[in-house]
This record gives sequence, structure tokens and C-alpha cells, in this order.
Amino acid sequence: MRFFCILLMHKVESSPMHTTQLDLRGMSRDSLLACCAAAGVKPVHAEHLTAAIFRRGHSDIATIPEIPHRLRDHLLAHTFIQSPTIAADQQSTDGTRKLLLKMGDGKAVETVLIPAEGRLTQCVSTQVGCAMGCRFCLTATAGLNRHLTAGEMVAEVMVGQQISDHRVRNLVLMGMGEPLHNYAAVAEFVRIASDPKGMAFSPNRITLSTSGIVPKIYAMAEDQLPCNLAVSLNATSDAVRDQIMPINRKYPLAELMRAVRDYIAARGNKRVLIEYVLLAGVNDSLDDAKRLAALMDGVGCTVNLLPFNPYPGSRFARPDEADVEAFHTILADQRIVVVVRRSRGRDISAACGQLIE
Ligand code: SAH
Ligand code: SF4
Repeated sequence: MRFFCILLMHKVESSPMHTTQLDLRGMSRDSLLACCAAAGVKPVHAEHLTAAIFRRGHSDIATIPEIPHRLRDHLLAHTFIQSPTIAADQQSTDGTRKLLLKMGDGKAVETVLIPAEGRLTQCVSTQVGCAMGCRFCLTATAGLNRHLTAGEMVAEVMVGQQISDHRVRNLVLMGMGEPLHNYAAVAEFVRIASDPKGMAFSPNRITLSTSGIVPKIYAMAEDQLPCNLAVSLNATSDAVRDQIMPINRKYPLAELMRAVRDYIAARGNKRVLIEYVLLAGVNDSLDDAKRLAALMDGVGCTVNLLPFNPYPGSRFARPDEADVEAFHTILADQRIVVVVRRSRGRDISAACGQLIE
């Protein structure tokens, strides 16, 4: 508990770059409207900006078309556009592609592009590192370096789209970082990504995954954040969850499940995705499966089982296929909607929990 609190209380830098300027790619429609007002031009130009920056991916303020000189001068003086560089680009035998993106201050994050049937899903990072300390996760080993800004998350998606032949259709906030530990920036990113006049991702195709920061699950419900919620449950008892996910000592299972039920009620029966990493001999017994089925009973969740992706130095093991199948069968027999997720990109360490700078 103490370890966890120290990590959270540690002051985290936001982007140290351009301290007096705003990143245009991190500005939602309301902020662009405020910009237009400050420049003394009509509000309609906020729409032109949204289309140019977020729909067409313009990255040079000097050449944005259809905007008055006064607005351009204002933008050049007060804003910038964040463009990360690709420091590494790896392609898996299954088509999954992992990019290492270097931000303006030299900090790097990974983003993963996963193709399926001509469509792409992009796995987006929300922080450089992560403070949550989950024992099975490689990202946790480096701790938290800093939060990403909304503009940096938008930039991740822009780069992913630019280098891809197909349109990025789904966004999953399942890369490096705990999205709800960086709530304000992540919420702004989700609003920008789902703006129909801009990046135009359907809210149903954006999924935010959390280790379970309960108050922010309530914030998501209150803000009606336009995305889906996924919760990494990963254990069926506090004793085990305390051991593998330190966040559980602050927000134990019963509180977390209550937040999931309240979220579903507040969002009008929107289903929540429950992720469950299967760790051999830790949380993959048949009793665990029965307890998980009981926890899910009548809640309105879909369960994704993720057999552990090992990495050098990890002290956990991936269960045998037969054990995964037996676990799956118990849930399916209880009429729980359950899928075993076969990780993509394992040969380039692009699978869940294998991301690190
Ligand atoms: N921080 C968020 C999102 C990023 S992690 C969260 O924890 O939900 C995305 C998913 O990968 C989580 O469900 C997490 O439990 C899972 N994961 C982490 N390490 C893993 C590993 N080594 N093998 C399989 N899944 C892993
Ligand atoms: Fe952070 Fe998620 Fe990894 Fe836990 S599983 S350390 S919350 S990235």
C-alpha cells in the first residue's frame, strides 16, 4: 500500500516542451472555438481547423488552408503541432506492426497496429511507463516517467494512420500506461478522437482499459465519455489481486465490481469488457473460473481471457492450452460471454504487457 501511494503522490511531469504554447492536436472543438474568439475571427473557423488538423492530418500551421491571416498569426504565436519521430518500426509475421515513437522531449512510447480483415486496430499508449506496478506486466518494471498529453496521443494515431495502407478503425487504450491515472488528458483525447467532424472514430470503436481506479470509473460515467470501458480484473479474490495488482489494496474487488455495475447502469446498460490475464498456478484454477463466473453473473460484461505473454525475467508462466480451454468452458457453461484472446505480434514483443520503452 505504502509503495503504491508513494508512486501516486510523486509529482509527474506533463510534457516539458513548449511551456507557453498549446499543442493544436490536443485541442478539442471548445478550445479551438476559444482560439478563434481570442484571434477575433468567426467561430466557423474552428470547424475549418478541426477538418484540417484532425481529418486531413495537417501538420504545418503555416499552410492550413481556408483560415484568415489573423487566425493563422494567432496560431503561429500561441500554438504548435506535435510530430513524434519513428525511432523503430518492427513488423510481425502475423502483420502486426510496432512503432517506437520519440516525443519532442526525447521520451519514447510504443504503439501497435493490429490488422484484421482489412481493418486496423491501434493500441495507444497513454503514459511513458506506468506507476501501477502490476507484477505480471513488463511496462510496470520501468515505473512511471511522465503522462502523455492529449496532443501526443492524437499524434500517435496520426503517425499510425500515415504509415498504414488501411484505415485505423478501432482504438484501444491498452498500450503503455494506466489511462485513468492520466484522466484529464485521456478524456480530452477521447473527445477529440470521437469528434465526427475531425478524427471521427465511432465511440463504440474506442476502448479504454483500466486496472481499476474506481473514482475515475465514476468520472467516466458522469462525463459520459464517448468510449467503451474495459477493466483488467485478473483475479477473483482480494488475496490474489492484492499480490499481483497493488491498486487492489486501494480499491478492492467488491468496490471495483460495484463501480462496474454502477457504470453499466449510468451508461444505459453499455456492456463492460472484463480482461483476465491467465497466470499458470496463480489465478487459472477451476475454482477461479467458478468464482469469476459468479462475479460476472447478471452484471452485463463480456470476458476476454488473455493467456500470459511471457518476457525474459518474468516470474509467471503461460498456462497450457488444456487449462485455458477448461477455464473457458466453465464460464461458457454459465452463459458468460467469453472469448480467449490470442495475442498478436508476440514475435516482436508487441502483445499485451510486452510494451516498454
Ligand atoms: N493499464 C491498463 C491498460 C494497459 S495493459 C490496464 O492495465 O488495463 C492492457 C492489458 O494487458 C491489461 O488487461 C493487462 O492486464 C494485460 N497484460 C499486462 N501484462 C500482460 C502480459 N504479460 N500478458 C498478457 N496480458 C498482459
Ligand atoms: Fe500499468 Fe496496465 Fe501494466 Fe498494470 S497492466 S502496470 S496498469 S500498464
